[in-house]
Amino acid sequence: MCATKTRDIDATVAQARQLAAAGAAIVRIAVDNDHEVRAMAAIREATAGIALAVDLQENYRVAPAVAPHVDKIRYNPGHLHHIERQKTVADKVAWLVDVAREHDCALRIGVNCGSIAPEFLERYPDDQLEALVQSALYHCSLMDDLGFTRFVVSLKDSDPNKVVAANTRFADARPDVPLHLGVTEAGLPPEGIIKSRLAFEPLLARGIGDTLRVSLTLPNEVKHEEVEVGHQILDDVAAGRFISVPDFGQGLNIISCPSCSRVENESFVELAQHVRELTTYAAAHRITIAVMGCRVNGPGETDDADLGLWCGPSTVNLKKKDQKVGTYSYSEVLPRLREELDRLISARS
Ligand code: SF4
Repeated sequence: MCATKTRDIDATVAQARQLAAAGAAIVRIAVDNDHEVRAMAAIREATAGIALAVDLQENYRVAPAVAPHVDKIRYNPGHLHHIERQKTVADKVAWLVDVAREHDCALRIGVNCGSIAPEFLERYPDDQLEALVQSALYHCSLMDDLGFTRFVVSLKDSDPNKVVAANTRFADARPDVPLHLGVTEAGLPPEGIIKSRLAFEPLLARGIGDTLRVSLTLPNEVKHEEVEVGHQILDDVAAGRFISVPDFGQGLNIISCPSCSRVENESFVELAQHVRELTTYAAAHRITIAVMGCRVNGPGETDDADLGLWCGPSTVNLKKKDQKVGTYSYSEVLPRLREELDRLISARS
């Protein structure tokens, strides 16, 4: 997925080519507004031969404008309720299917543990995984009712064990539906690579998964390393090489998003790296820290972490679980994080 600003046409074209040259079969680009839709038309022209997918987040209404320029449209069932609240989810999906049909696009139903549709969270209050799987299954049934077959499903989480469980459960229920695998917010390498392997290896070995994406927090210059890691995992599984990391996940867990065009500040990757350096002293503690690049997924995806940071254009929001601690400049937030981490460690001990 491109992490450049979509409206920066030259940078996005360069990154799409960089990813394709590294072996990406599909390049995904986020589009939220008309300005980015217009950029997408130019990006399409300059990337002939590269399959493009568009990521619609809260603003799924841009779909008809962007569809002529892409091969696949990804929508998140957990974001459909934000606008046009008077319409039903089924009507919105039918509308998206019409758009896909008209422009010869495939669809991806992309569900995510950090943004599950509220009605499914209410239906399964004690089982987040079941809410995730049932939400995906419901959207498959909408596709079935509409007679639309060109779709794929993804069920993502930052915890590789949950990714394995969710995809296995889904594949048992709908073995006919292609699955796109991913560990969202796997974070910085090498931990992000280990998390991706822990999820993908058992799934691929069971024949589950048709496409995959490795999500790593990397600077734009080396973003293509995600693709190289993905191919390495596929080669290793095909050759029967699997990793074993017995104590992995027992101590400090830093999750961070891979960034995308929505990232609010280019310092995000550096911030994630600084958080890791600052917190090495806490490596033995079972604490999760989440670092997210924007307001779209930042507030929701930090709710489950012990400490969370999500970026605004010039400030970073610091949270303890779902409670806001405060908003700080990029330089002030690190000492505040350290204070909160010290407090947490001392409270637990
Ligand atoms: S948290 Fe925001 S910046 Fe990061 S990948 Fe998700 S949408 Fe993009």
